[in-house]
Amino acid sequence: MLLSVIVPMYNEEEIAAKTYTTLVDVLKDLEYELLFINDGSTDKTREILENLIPEDSPHKVLSFSRNFGHQAAFSAGLNHAQGDAVVIIDGDLQDPPELILEMLSKWREGYHVVYAQRRKRQGESWFKLITARWFYRILNSLTSIKIPVDTGDFRLMDRAVVDNINRLPERSRFLRGLVCWVGFKHTGIQYDRAKREAGTTKYPLRKMMGLAIDGITSFSTAPLKFSLVLGMWATAISFALGVWSFAQKLLHPTTTTDGWASIIIAVVFLGGVQLITIGILGEYIGRIYEEIKQRPLYILDKSSRGKKYDMDS
Ligand code: UDP
Ligand code: MG
Repeated sequence: MLLSVIVPMYNEEEIAAKTYTTLVDVLKDLEYELLFINDGSTDKTREILENLIPEDSPHKVLSFSRNFGHQAAFSAGLNHAQGDAVVIIDGDLQDPPELILEMLSKWREGYHVVYAQRRKRQGESWFKLITARWFYRILNSLTSIKIPVDTGDFRLMDRAVVDNINRLPERSRFLRGLVCWVGFKHTGIQYDRAKREAGTTKYPLRKMMGLAIDGITSFSTAPLKFSLVLGMWATAISFALGVWSFAQKLLHPTTTTDGWASIIIAVVFLGGVQLITIGILGEYIGRIYEEIKQRPLYILDKSSRGKKYDMDS
């Protein structure tokens, strides 16, 4: 098989059919498979897709038993894809499918990873634009791998890259980072990101923050160093204040200085520093805990609601 196209879908009933027909239309001259990962949709996404896909086609719908998240959907897709080249693309047509053909020609030139870099984004709030912009820059300044700025997950990967990502045992999967970590020859193509054709974003701020924290903690221990530095500064400042107040006492033994404000400031400051550092530590310990439990990344729902359920997990 030449190409596998992985499409995560979470409550996309308004657009699922259009996504399917657009992809089939763009890819009609190629030997390919579509892998729809239905990430625990609670609407009609699954039925729509299962009814659209003809019995004898290589396309599949993999359904999760609940919502496991976008990144887990990619993992499922990568585990099941059979193509020599694998593309992952959002199911809301925000990533233009025509770009897949351009990616393929770069792949034929010998690149192992072709990522799509957004030049412009339409129909997204200024808040999303600013946070997305800063996220990539902060992440790169903290980590040793260089994740290209302004790229999403829309990309093509060679079989060699996919096999290596599938071998990585970690639970918290920040795919953009893992792809860079694996190495090989990378290149980017530029595009303008369109706005969502229908439906609403499945990425509220809470999920975006989660993704950002995942990205940073999976690829960097800089926050731990930051808490060490913060602790050192706090110690140095409190030591200096101690020396100063001792000297005051020696020089003016009789004056009773009203020390209320300084005590409160010191207590609050140190309390804050301690909570921040404990929080950062907790974030990493939580991750160690998640890894050690070794739970699967996703669970497939193979119940016989439709035709395409007989997949191996
Ligand atoms: N998605 C998913 N699971 C989730 C959230 C999103 O599979 O928990 C899918 C969603 O259906 C879409 C893609 O991931 O195909 C990107 O999500 P969305 O368009 O909501 O994100 P945005 O483009 O707003 O960043
Ligand atoms: Mg989208």
